[in-house]
Amino acid sequence: MNTEGEMTPVNEDIINSRDQLYRFHGGLVLPGHREVVASRPLQAAVIPPQLVLPLKQHIGEAAECLVSPGDAVFKGQMIAAPRGTISMPVHASSSGIVIAVEDRPVPHPSSLIAPCIIIETDGKDEWGEADTPLPDYRQLPVERLLQRIREAGIVGLGGAGFPTQAKLAHRAPKGIDLLVINGVECEPYICCDNRLMQERADEVLEGVRILQHILQPRHCIIAIEDHMPEAEAAMRAAAETVAAGNLRVVRVPEIYPTGGERQLIKVLTGREVPSQGFPADIGVICQNVGTAAAVYRAIVHDQPLISRIITVTGAGVREPGNLEVLIGTPFRHAVETCGGYSSEVDRLLMGGPMMGFAVTTDEVPVIKTTNCILAVTREEMPPPVHARPCIRCGKCTAVCPADLLPQQLYWHARSGNLDTAQDYNLFDCIECGCCAYVCPSHIPLVQYYRHAKAEIWTQEKQKKASDIARRRHEARLARLERARLERSERLAERKKSLSGPAEQAIDAKQAIIEGALERVRKKKEAADLAPKNMDNLTPEQERMIREIEARRSHKDRPTEH
Ligand code: SF4
Ligand code: SF4
Repeated sequence: MNTEGEMTPVNEDIINSRDQLYRFHGGLVLPGHREVVASRPLQAAVIPPQLVLPLKQHIGEAAECLVSPGDAVFKGQMIAAPRGTISMPVHASSSGIVIAVEDRPVPHPSSLIAPCIIIETDGKDEWGEADTPLPDYRQLPVERLLQRIREAGIVGLGGAGFPTQAKLAHRAPKGIDLLVINGVECEPYICCDNRLMQERADEVLEGVRILQHILQPRHCIIAIEDHMPEAEAAMRAAAETVAAGNLRVVRVPEIYPTGGERQLIKVLTGREVPSQGFPADIGVICQNVGTAAAVYRAIVHDQPLISRIITVTGAGVREPGNLEVLIGTPFRHAVETCGGYSSEVDRLLMGGPMMGFAVTTDEVPVIKTTNCILAVTREEMPPPVHARPCIRCGKCTAVCPADLLPQQLYWHARSGNLDTAQDYNLFDCIECGCCAYVCPSHIPLVQYYRHAKAEIWTQEKQKKASDIARRRHEARLARLERARLERSERLAERKKSLSGPAEQAIDAKQAIIEGALERVRKKKEAADLAPKNMDNLTPEQERMIREIEARRSHKDRPTEH
């Protein structure tokens, strides 16, 4: 941003320079562990007997369930509708019968259970409505294309799961300078994007063309890490078939985490996304290659997001590979497709060893953001050791790609100083795990950051709820006061409107009432002054009363001079 708060466009020279790349702070060069699995072609996973579809598979609000147990559903049918702007629908990944809508374990760092739709598949894999293919998307307005992407339930498939339509709609005031297609699969073990680019480069490229049509960026870069020469060659060949002068394939060095959105933008342009800001604020939008392919299927073939490519790997899996699985497939089923577990398997993770997290059961389903199922042995990934106190070595700071102070963040997150942790830009942490990887004290730093973020979100949610309750209470009081004032005004108006005989009648009535009240008052006074009945008095009482009356009559006599 410049001093006037305007969006600063990306430097043209930087984009047009073919060789100029930049470095972000920190990062690590990690062993890849991809050799075997990267060469395995994509395999279609068989339909599982049951699909488990969580209502929330993305950042934002959970979807609203549209089906009940007993309902028959078709492949591609919307079974849960979005509940807000940052919310996405869920579709049946295959045909069958809904047998339950209930809480089930879902892939989450806190081993959550959450509402899911359970479908017993019928094996027919029957599509509901006929596709309405749309090969010439250029005839449609951009808003309609965005709506179609939303209806297809597409979220970022690189891991974050941000609704794609919302990201595309977030335009910078001066438009988009650069569209980055992220093919940088930087985390060890994972190679699903690599295989996608090798085997379906045309689909990815068509998706890129649609995104270009929607965003109208001045430049477009497909970024691929330098350990994927086959994918790079496939994308270059596909790109040559389209006459797009502003589209380039760029190879970037293998440094973890270059695949992070902010880090990749820094590498390609030298520019920093502002803290707490979005890439669109500096005129850049980043989309994953898998997301581009999903956009192509949604727009051209009218297919919602019901499957994705994942890598199933680790020494705990007998035949690691890359699978195209239906969303909702239990992990166990995907591992069985790859020959099942080896006898030494120790733990199961969703994601890679750096950003992934352990799951406690293999009944959890593949969701839209699952890019890898990693079954590891003890030898391959020893269990976490007991953490020791921080020795202030500063190694975590040296490797942090977000240029944060992980040690300070740790102290404040640990001691519950959440405001201070935010002052240290906690929310700029991308949870890459570099700091924990190098920490000689084996402190599980990322867990502290995740916990602190979750705590802040919970507090904000509670504050929002209590603010809403307070505002409701204040509105109620204001409504009651308004009603009271309106009532008084109505009475005053009515009185004003009663003039002439009616008003005189009211006055006469009032006079009668007041006269009656006056007579009662006088009668009472007279009764107080009247001589008392002395039949039941003692002689002493009788004497006192006579004395009082004599004194009163003496007092009432006119004075003689
Ligand atoms: S790397 Fe670990 S021990 Fe060293 S300063 Fe960071 S938190 Fe402390
Ligand atoms: S996990 Fe966060 S604090 Fe640690 S290195 Fe990555 S970005 Fe920095």
